[in-house]
Amino acid sequence: MKLEGRCYCGNIRYVAEGDPMLQAQCHCRECQYITGGAPNTFIVMPLAGHTYIQGTPKAFTRSDLERAVTREFCPDCGTHLATKPPGRPVVVVKVGTLDDPTQYTPQMAIFTIDKQPFHQIPEGMKTFERRPG
Ligand SMILES: [Zn+2]
Ligand SMILES: [Zn+2]
Repeated sequence: MKLEGRCYCGNIRYVAEGDPMLQAQCHCRECQYITGGAPNTFIVMPLAGHTYIQGTPKAFTRSDLERAVTREFCPDCGTHLATKPPGRPVVVVKVGTLDDPTQYTPQMAIFTIDKQPFHQIPEGMKTFERRPG
């Protein structure tokens, strides 16, 4: 699968190629800050196939969390583009930044322990209180 996408202003563009490892929505409290309150919809891709082909994102990692993820975003328009977990060769791509968001096929809802009453989970979708497995 080849994913292509960009930030809201268009200064940053990326490509992510490879076999998607997970397509899901995350209800965790941290993701709610990034999305505006809704669950975060994302596709986990191999890090090796992920490249910024235009522009350079700014990266941010919280220092108060153990094993904090690094979030990359456009320094001009603020769009959050990708998340990199520590010590794993994967990149978490945000569905809202894809040129074609219909490439996303949701498989499961995770971190429902932080789910808000107004969050939606599609009928019949697998759910996990935290991570699967
Ligand atoms: Zn931008
Ligand atoms: Zn999350």
